[in-house]
Amino acid sequence: MLIVMKQDATDAQVEEVLSVIRGLGFKPHPMPGATRTAIGITGNPGAIDPRHFEMLGGVAEAIRVSKPYKLVGRDLKHEDTIVKIGDVSIGGSVPAIIAGPCAVESYDQTMAIAEVVASAGVKLFRGGAFKPRTSPYSFQGLGESGLKILAAVREQFGLSIVTEVLDTETVDLVEEYADIVQIGARNMQNFSLLRKIGQAKKPAILKRGMSATLDELLLAAEYIMAEGNYNVILCERGVRTFADHTRNTLDLSIVPAVQQRSHLPIIVDPSHGTGKREKVIPLARASIAVGADGIMVEVHNQPEQALSDGPQALLPEMFRQLVTDVNAIHKILTQPEHAAATL
Ligand code: PEP
Ligand code: MN
Repeated sequence: MLIVMKQDATDAQVEEVLSVIRGLGFKPHPMPGATRTAIGITGNPGAIDPRHFEMLGGVAEAIRVSKPYKLVGRDLKHEDTIVKIGDVSIGGSVPAIIAGPCAVESYDQTMAIAEVVASAGVKLFRGGAFKPRTSPYSFQGLGESGLKILAAVREQFGLSIVTEVLDTETVDLVEEYADIVQIGARNMQNFSLLRKIGQAKKPAILKRGMSATLDELLLAAEYIMAEGNYNVILCERGVRTFADHTRNTLDLSIVPAVQQRSHLPIIVDPSHGTGKREKVIPLARASIAVGADGIMVEVHNQPEQALSDGPQALLPEMFRQLVTDVNAIHKILTQPEHAAATL
């Protein structure tokens, strides 16, 4: 059920609806919008009688939600969600760029790459301290000492930190260091992890599972939101298909499909999406052109020595080119007169 408040409903009237929902033993999710507040309800095992709400002051409508998801959908919140990290917005009018190595390998490597990222004017730095690896014998990440290196990056360059959390046991630790916690493709349906991130205070990037449908991705985000964390950023990173010319098949068609159904921002990761550095710039350009709210890419100063994902890491000069291209495409989309002038 979804309660839509009248445009002129007072805070006290909204509060009254919230307390009726709590009194029924359910959880209210108020979502203030530009024109009206809507309140989602979770925790109810079946349909709720709309008469509980229809007579309350300030209520415009009590609507049954027929979609499988309640909180991620545009029925509840029409306006786009904008996730703010410091002075950067993800989901606003400017595409966000998140860049850095696949893994934090050492202090010197991480600082050298952070310098490349910061000097390109990019504000969000990625790097894994806990790595989900296919083989148990591959480099698993530096763990807490990697998180400390990321804290040094924030301190030195003023970059905000995106880093992955692998399990429920380390959520509190990772959250202490991260500005955004990342849930990787392999964990998209780790429901206890999703719930725990739902109780966290930091925004989350939720990567699409390797064979997840759009509804499965949105329902995974719903797990996080149902616990009260509404700052969720979806990420397309390619799905597994028969194609073997790339590591994964980057499904850019999911971007407009998500935007039609959900208010949550969606970014694209063309690094894991392609697995090859020479394909990253073209697919990053396409991601911005298709309307993604940002991109996340891997960059390395010495990719031939990288402990993970070297073949897909952009070299520093390629990364600078990518930033220029992203800004140029964004400009063409938002200032069509610029496009005409350059023809
Ligand atoms: C990553 O971003 O480092 C990563 C492991 O990606 P994915 O979960 O998409 O494979
Ligand atoms: Mn990687």
